Amino acid sequence: MKKIVIAIDGHSSGGKSTMARELAREIGYTYIDTGAMYRALTLYALRQGLFAGGRIEEDKLRAALPGIHISFRMNEQTGRTDTWLNGVNVEKEIRGMDVAAWVSPLAALPFVRRDLVARQQEMGKEKGIVMDGRDIGTVVFPEAELKIFVTASPEVRAQRRLDEMRAKGETASFEEVLENVKKRDLIDSTRREGPLRQAGDALLLDNSAMSPAEQKVWLMEQYLKTINT
Ligand code: C5P
Repeated sequence: MKKIVIAIDGHSSGGKSTMARELAREIGYTYIDTGAMYRALTLYALRQGLFAGGRIEEDKLRAALPGIHISFRMNEQTGRTDTWLNGVNVEKEIRGMDVAAWVSPLAALPFVRRDLVARQQEMGKEKGIVMDGRDIGTVVFPEAELKIFVTASPEVRAQRRLDEMRAKGETASFEEVLENVKKRDLIDSTRREGPLRQAGDALLLDNSAMSPAEQKVWLMEQYLKTINT
């Protein structure tokens, strides 16, 4: 059967990763969470003290980039892939509020985007991938055979994010999470390089009122339509 690239873009906490991961599992594709790559880099910068004084030490980050290794490895216990940074599992650490607060400013830096986009293109060059992010259908794989743009209201997305964090034992208030979701939307969609926007040929999915099961069915239909045409 022909292998394709499936690009899933959209706003923060819109449920992209759940959809993308499940579809990949079902059709035997590799799932790549590009947000986790930007998060891992942010965690690295936090740990190295590169956000001192409320700004990013760009020169130090640029110099460190070639030595920063980000990979995904299967976690046999959860059945999901975890994010590893320089040989250490950082899946839990990259989901916290401190990383969320810095990831969008860091992801807006052109040299950061160019570096991670090149790594993502390399990961997907054999096709057979479901990749989720903000610029997958517009910049990373503009030729992707199937492109989906997922959105939902900021309140719905903040609640989902909060539920997810609480399930993992993290604490935050609804207001704090909502503010972070809105702030990231703004930074992501107004940056110069690789801004978040719907590709002209992407299918729009507003899932504010859809259950995960309904989304799964919808996505599978789009996949089947694409490979059969
Ligand atoms: O998808 P997730 O919310 O984990 O992504 C975290 C942040 O990483 C986003 O808010 C965005 O700033 C950045 N990002 C990006 N481009 C991508 C994926 C994520 O700029 N392809």
